[in-house]
Amino acid sequence: MNLRNIAIIAHVDHGKTTLIDVLLKQSGAFRDNQRTEERMMDSNDIERERGITILAKVTSLVWKDTRINIVDTPGHADFGGEVERILHMVDGVILLVDAAEGPMPQTKFVLGKALKLGLKPIVAINKIDKPEQRADEVLDEVFDLFAALDANEDQLDFPVLYGSAKQEWMALEPNGPQDSMDPLFDMVLDKVSPPEAQPGDFRILATTIESDPFLGRILTGRIVSGTALPNMPIKALSRDGSVVENGRISKILAFRGLERQPIEKGEAGDIVAIAGLTKATVADTLCAPSVNESLQAQPIDPPTLSMT
Ligand code: GDP
Repeated sequence: MNLRNIAIIAHVDHGKTTLIDVLLKQSGAFRDNQRTEERMMDSNDIERERGITILAKVTSLVWKDTRINIVDTPGHADFGGEVERILHMVDGVILLVDAAEGPMPQTKFVLGKALKLGLKPIVAINKIDKPEQRADEVLDEVFDLFAALDANEDQLDFPVLYGSAKQEWMALEPNGPQDSMDPLFDMVLDKVSPPEAQPGDFRILATTIESDPFLGRILTGRIVSGTALPNMPIKALSRDGSVVENGRISKILAFRGLERQPIEKGEAGDIVAIAGLTKATVADTLCAPSVNESLQAQPIDPPTLSMT
């Protein structure tokens, strides 16, 4: 199946959760009876309290035969390292901005990281239904922000959508049509490149880690090359290329709607969760035993709590 991996960048309260709910609903992947109180963005606090690093929030939906994985990005500067690693999994971002409030500190922080990684954002000006909306000015402010963050020419030429997640529409013009999210879906398919698979045997860069009572350690990332199969022997390489452990994949989970489901085959480009290893951690590469250490995926800083 065709794939797109994107992240949504937004300041808190600008409508990320509402938008994702509507996208799920309109793509048909959303069933009301499956709706949990625990909306996708809301579990981080609990997890943090328990002291588990778990920030793998991926929502996945299908639009016109294309699977779209939407990765959550924490907006806080405390998670600077996380943000960068998470953005390495995607090929495009949607920058969601409140039409009344305009860009805010978290918008700036994550956008800066995305631009640095060469991602070209799609700008979505949300909450245009608000009487105090000032979409034109906000668009100017967004442009100025891009410029201040040293966006390149291509990035400055960002496409723009206007709409209201609450009223369940996005359009190319501020006044509509106000009937669906189709323009946003189509823009993602059109403007975001499909993930490129690198040649070679199975390789995935562990981006987030969590602990599951049944499956044990679960590492989530984007498959860089090759194919993952359940029971397949794998090894984990640390960033310096040394072997952390040898083991076996016990389960491969893919994201479906708000949930995760076991799959029989993980394909290059997809974002999946791998269970079976016990020592491997974030920033390690999990790979087929045949993979040469020098083929270690690109180095990405390990999790850091930057206090800036
Ligand atoms: P998040 O923090 O970015 O995930 O934001 P939420 O999706 O939780 O939205 C924050 C608040 O803004 C909620 O009260 C939403 O109902 C509201 N909201 C979201 N989208 C819109 C919109 O398009 N128009 C208006 N007026 N309110 C919205």
